[in-house]
Amino acid sequence: MDESVRNYLDHYGVSDATRRFLAKPQKMFIDGAWVDSGNGVTFDVFEPSTGGRITSAPSGTTEDLDQAVAAARRQFDGGEWRRLKPLERERLLHRLADLIETHGNELAEIEAVDMGKSVSFARDIDIQGTVDTFRYFAGWPSKLHGRIVEPSIPGNYLAYTRKEPLGVVAAIVPWNFPLQTMAWKLAAALAAGCTVIVKPAELTSLSTLRFAELVQEAGIPDGVVNIVTGRGSVIGAAMSTHPGIDKVTFTGSTPVGKDVGRAAVGSLKHVTLELGGKSPVLVLDDADLPSAALAVANGVFFNSGQVCDAGTRVYVQRAVHDAFLDELVKVTRTLKIAPGLDRDCYIGPMVSAQQKAVVAGYIEAGRREGAELVHGGASLDGPGHFIEPTIFAHCKPEMRIVREEIFGPVLVTSPFDTLDEAVFLANDTPFGLAAAIYSNDLARVHGLIPRLHAGSVYVNAHSTIDPSMPFGGFKDSGFGKDLGPEQLDYLMETKAVWITLP
Ligand code: NAP
Ligand code: MG
Repeated sequence: MDESVRNYLDHYGVSDATRRFLAKPQKMFIDGAWVDSGNGVTFDVFEPSTGGRITSAPSGTTEDLDQAVAAARRQFDGGEWRRLKPLERERLLHRLADLIETHGNELAEIEAVDMGKSVSFARDIDIQGTVDTFRYFAGWPSKLHGRIVEPSIPGNYLAYTRKEPLGVVAAIVPWNFPLQTMAWKLAAALAAGCTVIVKPAELTSLSTLRFAELVQEAGIPDGVVNIVTGRGSVIGAAMSTHPGIDKVTFTGSTPVGKDVGRAAVGSLKHVTLELGGKSPVLVLDDADLPSAALAVANGVFFNSGQVCDAGTRVYVQRAVHDAFLDELVKVTRTLKIAPGLDRDCYIGPMVSAQQKAVVAGYIEAGRREGAELVHGGASLDGPGHFIEPTIFAHCKPEMRIVREEIFGPVLVTSPFDTLDEAVFLANDTPFGLAAAIYSNDLARVHGLIPRLHAGSVYVNAHSTIDPSMPFGGFKDSGFGKDLGPEQLDYLMETKAVWITLP
């Protein structure tokens, strides 16, 4: 561990448990064993607020993946896991949720140090969301069943359907909500009775590895959950074609998602793709402007803008455009830029130097293309990867900052006149993850909801997410759903059974 990271942990009084975990070289979790990669290669893990090195983790090989698949297959194809009664599965998932809750502060610290996010948000959103997701899906195993039907064809039959788990599921996870996104994929898969192999993002593997220790402590049988760390282009790509894997569930960027989808369909795997976004926000002229400004700022700057459904394109009805912009800038000025471990951090660093460069490049492009910079815009010097929350006004539809996903704290706004124009602007994007409306006019709100091409529509709020509600995009934001009972449909097969009766 670099001196700079050690000083950082000291300065913010990080717990001994977290310190011990972070100090050790990490291993992968395959078939209940903690292992190095087959060829001994590792990669370095960095802390984004200081830029310092934390530790190393194994760079898994395709042979390591083969072992993880073999373990997951053994458990699925008649192993102990497959024979567990539904209530037994529920008990194990509840135990795991309890353990995550017990170790919540430690997991939040690990997430804040590894990813750079605010430790307070990590505790209240990421970790609480993870606990809630496991609790929600823990209740499902005993409620999954088929139906008995009465056929009309001649003859006498007992005809019924069975719901059966799909098999071995590979989960490929991004770096922005490492533990929570993993939980979104894992909890439902385990509830359905599947077994799982997770590939965390290289930038943020640590919370998933600490989680695997809790999987073991909960008593989930060896081989049911496997974690293979390493490169997406190696492990993720191999998962997408591996003959022993039945389903790939991917969250990440649209270009990589398209590759994963093509490969998975080529080997006839089931596939769920949760991809990028450029979500529109419509502020109507009757909106409560101060509370809308607060919600819009949260909706784009939370997690330093590294949020897939961030409301990054804000269209404001012309009569209130300037007043709304004033409110928005006022709120944005109050957001504290600080290292992730600072309890009052709102804007933490970008996850990496590379991500900082990408975001800074978009800000530069916005300036060059003539967007009006009304707040922020600067990259801060120093070893940490900080960028100011940035607002551009009067943006044109063809500008890159309007069209492309930036994945940083950058907001673009422009005025609209009619609701038809607002709908056109909102839908003028290849993406379709989410959309938001700010208005108290029920007729206008309900008129707009069906016209927006987006997987989630938020009214007078942004990113309200709960395990009972499905999450997933339309268009280039992917297909399939995470969360809600809908997710289970993507993790189970339906078998039709016909019994000819005398
Ligand atoms: P990414 O580059 O697409 O990576 C996502 C995951 O895919 C990582 O684990 C990555 O591994 C792996 N990967 C990379 N190349 C691969 C390949 N050829 N085959 C298979 N897997 C591969 O995305 P990111 O930069 O981590 O995350 C940001 C993106 O995720 C944004 O576009 C964001 O909108 C999207 N996202 C979507 C949702 C949603 O629910 N819709 C949620 C969160 C984020 P490495 O880390 O080793 O490269
Ligand atoms: Mg890191």
